[in-house]
Amino acid sequence: MARDSVLADLGAKGADGGAAHELTEAVRRYRIDRAPVCLADHDPADTGPFTTRDRGLARALLRAHTAWLTDRQRALAAQGQWAVLVVLQGRDAAGKDSLIRHVMSGLNPQSCDVTSFGVPNEEELRHDFLWRCQRHLPAQGTVGVFNRSHYEEVLVVRVRPDLLRAQRLHPSLVGPGVWDQRLRDIAAFEDYLSRNGTAIVKIFLNVSKEEQKERFLGRLRNPAKHFKFSPSDIRDREHWDAYTEAYEAALGATSTPEAPWYVVPADRKWFARLAVASILVHTIAELDLEHPAPLLADPEELQAARAALEDA
Ligand code: AMP
Ligand code: MG
Repeated sequence: MARDSVLADLGAKGADGGAAHELTEAVRRYRIDRAPVCLADHDPADTGPFTTRDRGLARALLRAHTAWLTDRQRALAAQGQWAVLVVLQGRDAAGKDSLIRHVMSGLNPQSCDVTSFGVPNEEELRHDFLWRCQRHLPAQGTVGVFNRSHYEEVLVVRVRPDLLRAQRLHPSLVGPGVWDQRLRDIAAFEDYLSRNGTAIVKIFLNVSKEEQKERFLGRLRNPAKHFKFSPSDIRDREHWDAYTEAYEAALGATSTPEAPWYVVPADRKWFARLAVASILVHTIAELDLEHPAPLLADPEELQAARAALEDA
């Protein structure tokens, strides 16, 4: 679908078409097109063309985007040729869960699956590192969201050597080159998926260290949010710089035209949600969803079906 018609469509759905256009331009700059990646160049507090005063407009735009996604998801399911995989990564308290709630709320649960990947269980540890993710890949006509993903294998597992040891690989397989090998494996895996009809888009929610601290403190102050806080959050925070390096290596090695990474500023949740909605809209707009093949294309067959129903 041509970009202009997507933007016109969003404007027609009740939001300002000009604002949708400016958002698209801003979001394009978040895409990683070349290595090396330096996260210090990406401002987590960026809000693109909007200021805090524009939050009403941002909400209207988010509604327009989710309405557009709802409509196109129907076409995706009807056509049944493409799968869409959204990989969502971010540090603790980056806003992954609430983003899924806000951005995916309009999608039909029949053709959308969210899978959260936590610490692997015994069975998962006994398989190769991509195994558990492969089992949750979206089928044709559906959208799959990975809340954390196979990327944890080059992030948390890279930062914490005890996790690599828990995988019980033979020492000959875990030399210093293991991370580059895994990154190459991931890139090849995603290339393979894209050549088999899965459109992939990868989001890194980029939260700042200060904002993460505020969110942790907010969780600790509010008993209803205590369940969200885990001791590992503090430990991971102590390794902030090691995670930064691991993220930079992963983003640089695996962002491709077929499976691009977007570094989305995440300190302002209202903007992060809108930016991700815009990325999804433009990813899905690239797919050729215009002509779902009707089961009864022949007018005579249609007429016969109608007649059979009327006679019944
Ligand atoms: P949460 O997202 O807060 O539910 O936490 C899930 C935890 O599981 C995070 O601390 C992740 O780093 C951890 N995790 C996810 N995938 C893996 C993996 N492949 N190996 C080890 N830990 C993981
Ligand atoms: Mg956590």
